[in-house]
Amino acid sequence: MVLKQSELRQRMERILFSEDEIQCRVDALAQAIAADYIQGNAACDEEARPVLMICILRGALLFMSDLAQRVPMAVEYDTISVSSYASGTVPGAVQLVKDLERPIAGRDVLVVEDIIDTGYTIEYLRRTLEARQPASVRVATLIDKVARREIPVGINYVGFPLEQDAFVVGYGMDYAELYRNLPYIGVLKPEYIRE
Ligand code: IMP
Repeated sequence: MVLKQSELRQRMERILFSEDEIQCRVDALAQAIAADYIQGNAACDEEARPVLMICILRGALLFMSDLAQRVPMAVEYDTISVSSYASGTVPGAVQLVKDLERPIAGRDVLVVEDIIDTGYTIEYLRRTLEARQPASVRVATLIDKVARREIPVGINYVGFPLEQDAFVVGYGMDYAELYRNLPYIGVLKPEYIRE
């Protein structure tokens, strides 16, 4: 049986960010990012190669796609995937599932993440990438769940700070692999979340 987008919409308790709000914000982020690399001091690659955007699969796929198309400068991109042990014995343990396809030594790297929650995932990635000696590492996240942070993290570009402790879906983000292809971001009604 095919689940229609309209049926997924009915499962939302509320919409946090509409499609228009997201697109508008992504556009502003793209301009800010380009300004930093073009006019500012963000570009450190001695060979002046394009910024290498790194998409953290799978949640950042839609954000990355829109951002890469709107950023008014040449970019290259690659993908990486990690898994977190949310309920394991080691809190915040993160594992590399799919590595980058090319080396990043000497490159200006822009990590693109969907949402930063406790901060463990992005810190693991930053450490992993910095060990490969890129020229610079910057981080862009669509959502920054500020209230849930457990470790300090350096974030350069934030789409939307989120003060409330809500589990969000849509625009790349899932619950049990569903809702990723919705163009908006919302919070599910409790009956659609199994504890
Ligand atoms: P952290 O390591 O706790 O910062 O978790 C980051 C990762 O957890 C993100 O890349 C998401 O995959 C996932 N995540 C955290 N909060 C949410 C949410 O509200 N909705 C969907 N995924 C989330």
